[in-house]
Amino acid sequence: MRIVALAGGIGGARFLRGLLAAVGPQDEITVIGNTGDDIHLYGLKVCPDLDTVMYTLGGGIHEEQGWGRADETWSIKAEMKEYGVGPEWFGLGDRDFATHLVRSQMLTAGYSLSQVTEALCVRWKPGVRLLPMSDDRVETHVRITDEQGTRAVHFQEYWVRLHAAVDAEAIIPVGADTAKPAPGVLEAIAEADVILFPPSNPVVSIGTILAVPGIREAVAAAPAPVVGLSPIIGGAPVRGMADKVLAAVGVEATAEAVALNYGSELIDGWLVDSADEAAVAVVEAAGIACRAVPLLMTDVETTAEMARAALALAEQVRA
Ligand code: GDP
Ligand code: CA
Repeated sequence: MRIVALAGGIGGARFLRGLLAAVGPQDEITVIGNTGDDIHLYGLKVCPDLDTVMYTLGGGIHEEQGWGRADETWSIKAEMKEYGVGPEWFGLGDRDFATHLVRSQMLTAGYSLSQVTEALCVRWKPGVRLLPMSDDRVETHVRITDEQGTRAVHFQEYWVRLHAAVDAEAIIPVGADTAKPAPGVLEAIAEADVILFPPSNPVVSIGTILAVPGIREAVAAAPAPVVGLSPIIGGAPVRGMADKVLAAVGVEATAEAVALNYGSELIDGWLVDSADEAAVAVVEAAGIACRAVPLLMTDVETTAEMARAALALAEQVRA
């Protein structure tokens, strides 16, 4: 079976680990990763979501944190601080730095982000084909109003430095309108047997991937069933601040509102957590098949069970 999954960082990566445990060696998984969170720091290109997927599936992730490298040290950051060079709020450890150095060196030499990602994956062997959504630069910005007035800040500044404490007024995927899907992305979607939306952030992860012209259309036109899993349980994100960015696009932070926002033209099936049983009827009334199952990714086996439920729902809507 050919499975395509769109993915952000932590939610996407943890789900993919369960999916890999649920499928067999004959199944091929292509992951289309969000690059709207990418940021340039110290002249280096940092791709937080691609790296989270790569490190998580490749066994290099800092488990508790959910991002960055295991057994990390922070000498470079400390040295930068001595020079008074920031930003202090963004954590790049020494091991992680090596990834960004390799990536930036290859980009400078003329390789595309997809080629670089493939090269990095030679080391990490994530067990999936990891494609960036686009080789073109896309950066999500967030419009906020604070004591400095109304302005747009980089998504990372909003999320990591400001902890999403101020309201997000608008989410702007800068560059998305002219970005092209990376090589292989549209083909993978068209040839997929199943398309999955992991419980990734619907606005700044899945939403940004869908904002690249051609990708939303390809998913909507794909012959494969499309099934998503809710990142919202009991009216709140499981971790992170998805409610803040959902509010910016006028969507309530509920499992049913997120499904209805994708809409039946995009998704055929939707899984909500058992706690959101009441959402099932609402989602089904909108023409989307819906089931309530446990959706907390507490360990790999529990997550594999979520993946099996998503694949089973895909078979039901296909029939
Ligand atoms: P990010 O790029 O690191 O923010 O990661 P993603 O966009 O892939 O995923 C973030 C989303 O994952 C958040 O909105 C969380 O609510 C969701 N999430 C995290 N852990 C879980 C979990 O155990 N179950 C479910 N259903 N969602 C989760
Ligand atoms: Ca992200």
